[in-house]
Amino acid sequence: MEFRSYMDQALIEARVAAARGEVPVGAVVVAPSGEVVARAGNRTRELCDPTAHAEVLALRAACAAAGSERLLGHDLYVTLEPCPMCAAAIANARIARLYYGASDPKSGGVAQGPRIFAHTQCHHVPDVYDGIAALEAERLLKEFFAAKR
Ligand SMILES: [Zn+2]
Repeated sequence: MEFRSYMDQALIEARVAAARGEVPVGAVVVAPSGEVVARAGNRTRELCDPTAHAEVLALRAACAAAGSERLLGHDLYVTLEPCPMCAAAIANARIARLYYGASDPKSGGVAQGPRIFAHTQCHHVPDVYDGIAALEAERLLKEFFAAKR
């Protein structure tokens, strides 16, 4: 099957999050059929919830739609390297492939910091593809934080 990136849809969610005043990070979950089953952007401020990261919200919605706490064969696209909390949630959800955009030296938990998937306590490790549309994801974040100053 031909590879198709869903990062453009995650970037749309990131832009919508920025418009809400949230840190512009977006995520989509794709079923094995290629159908997008969940999409979300950060909502930590709106929901007063420090766990309301785009990845967590997308995983919750996809699990609710699937009627299962596991998303076997599903892929997750997110515009920014997941933090340790989201990386753990991705492992717990048994996501098959993780595609992310910009790396996050400050809060990332996949390629740096805690490197969640490298821990022996991590029971499921997705295939990880980084740097997907990274420049656009970085540009959104830089613009957002520049406007805050
Ligand atoms: Zn996170």
